[in-house]
Amino acid sequence: MAAPTPCSPVIVHTDDVLGLATYETGDHGIHTRGIFDPELLDRCISCGFCLPACPTYALEKDEASSPRGRITLMRALEAGTIDEYDPVLQEQSSQCLGCRACEVPCPAGVEYGLLLETWRDHQWAGRHGNPLAKVLRWSVERRSLLRLSGLVRRFARTTRYARSTQPHIMLGCAERVLFPSVSRAAMRLVRGSDVPIEQGCCGALHAHNGDSTRGAELARRLGQDLPGTIVTTAGGCAAHIAHNLGRDRLKELSEYLVETGYLAPGELLVDDEQGGRRRARVTLQDSCHLRNGLRVTAQPRALLRQVADYVELPSAGSCCGSAGSYSVLRPKESARVLAPKLEEIMAADVDFIVTVNPGCQLQLATALALRRSKTKAIHLADLLVRVEDDAAAGGSGTAGIR
Ligand code: SF4
Ligand code: SF4
Repeated sequence: MAAPTPCSPVIVHTDDVLGLATYETGDHGIHTRGIFDPELLDRCISCGFCLPACPTYALEKDEASSPRGRITLMRALEAGTIDEYDPVLQEQSSQCLGCRACEVPCPAGVEYGLLLETWRDHQWAGRHGNPLAKVLRWSVERRSLLRLSGLVRRFARTTRYARSTQPHIMLGCAERVLFPSVSRAAMRLVRGSDVPIEQGCCGALHAHNGDSTRGAELARRLGQDLPGTIVTTAGGCAAHIAHNLGRDRLKELSEYLVETGYLAPGELLVDDEQGGRRRARVTLQDSCHLRNGLRVTAQPRALLRQVADYVELPSAGSCCGSAGSYSVLRPKESARVLAPKLEEIMAADVDFIVTVNPGCQLQLATALALRRSKTKAIHLADLLVRVEDDAAAGGSGTAGIR
């Protein structure tokens, strides 16, 4: 059979590939339940070009675990040809990482991330939602908790009232608790930035876990807390904020630094085998939503090439398995997604794997520490500030490694 082209929708009966009631992936226009935006759902032409990009399809080798298979399921749900609480719907809406890698090769412009949010809103409503996801959503909404966990305030210039003329650093919910040094580093790198104390969650966690309405409300509220340009060090939040507030309101840190002409004052040095110092070897783990949602890929690499020997790994753009709350909600699958990447990192003989998202940072730092790897995970902001500290200390390289 000839390879499918973007102009020749493939008619695949789901009872062939998914074991479901008769439904054709190429059959557009069946909209009886009003769950999905018909225009979004109809865009898929079932060509399958997205399959090689999908981490869960790579693991399972099963059509149901692919983007095309999941869109087929969404269409069956919309058409009412499958029971809405059929286990396969629950399983696949949960097994998907939400990494949006399938959007990049798609010739039809399918906005899979939006479809997935709608699917989960419906699928995980009421008692069908994951209780742990509900706890996570609840905790990031508590402003008092966020304020208490804002350790960054002890070290940084914060302001009670935000000024719209200054760029504002967003204190991510997870990052301010797990990696407060990242926010502090970002404040130093973004000269003249404000860090308003009063800022809540951006709502990405809600949108990705079955409550996109609340996710949009929280994003709008954050936009009021932080008027003007919002600079984030969390790639996972970046796409959600840009989608809800407009692309012009959002700058991811590396994007901001490159656009404002950031020049590192030195380089990152490490001990060499002969007792001297050498330029560090570093690689990057992309943030899925930063790469696949906002297509920001060149900027962090450009910054890293300024300060170190950059090594591109084949899997740099594929999900590390963190995927927001996925590593908490589905730890076994998360570890399976991570495993081949971990082998690749350790074989590459790099000193640092650099992250641009706190979830990736936690996932990689934990796994590399458990494997006693010499490779350390570090956020880009922390790495650049270490270079600045070293330059201020005379450039010996001693401040670069701690
Ligand atoms: S979002 Fe990621 S895991 Fe989900 S279907 Fe797309 S590529 Fe596969
Ligand atoms: S999501 Fe895009 S790439 Fe995947 S099958 Fe549909 S049209 Fe093809």
